[in-house]
Amino acid sequence: MLNIILFGPPGAGKGTQSDRLIKKYNLVHFSTGDILRGEIKKQSKLGLEAKKNIDKGELVPDSVVISMISEKIDENKTAKGFIFDGFPRTTPQAEALDKLLAEKGTEINVMLALEVEKDELVKRLLNRGKDSGRTDDQDISIIENRIKVYLSETAPLTEYYARQGKFYGVEGIGTVDEIFEKLTFVTDKF
Ligand code: AMP
Repeated sequence: MLNIILFGPPGAGKGTQSDRLIKKYNLVHFSTGDILRGEIKKQSKLGLEAKKNIDKGELVPDSVVISMISEKIDENKTAKGFIFDGFPRTTPQAEALDKLLAEKGTEINVMLALEVEKDELVKRLLNRGKDSGRTDDQDISIIENRIKVYLSETAPLTEYYARQGKFYGVEGIGTVDEIFEKLTFVTDKF
């Protein structure tokens, strides 16, 4: 299996690059953000609860996203590999993911981290908010909070994977093709 974490702050381009990587390697894509937005659309209990956090730019509780991912892994027993996009976002999530994959006899091969400066992220998110209708992309204070939460709770995960020799940082500036080429230069080795 090829199991990739596509990592980076909000607005780094994880979704765009995930779409390309899935096609190239025939992987199953899990975006916790997309799954949560689906739950909000369905107005499920989980979705309505998560919306309270999402609307403030805070993280949804670990237990919620971990059980969502666990379910998705179980539903895809014949997958050639997974791309995790927007997950893990905290150390307990990373530890839970390692455990879930180990139970399946597999592991994360690589964390690809898209690196983009804050001013550029804010610009991209506000632009995306105009098209996507995502309310968390339309409000500067929510955006600022998401970036702050990323820096305090999520960014330390680069150390977690670096300790396992799995961290690769890639500059997330340039055309979609240029960035994709840099990512696949790493993933082609697996
Ligand atoms: P995203 O689409 O990845 O930017 O996620 C949108 C929002 O969903 C985030 O700001 C969080 O509130 C929530 N979310 C998505 N993934 C996670 C996660 N792994 N852990 C906690 N909250 C998450």
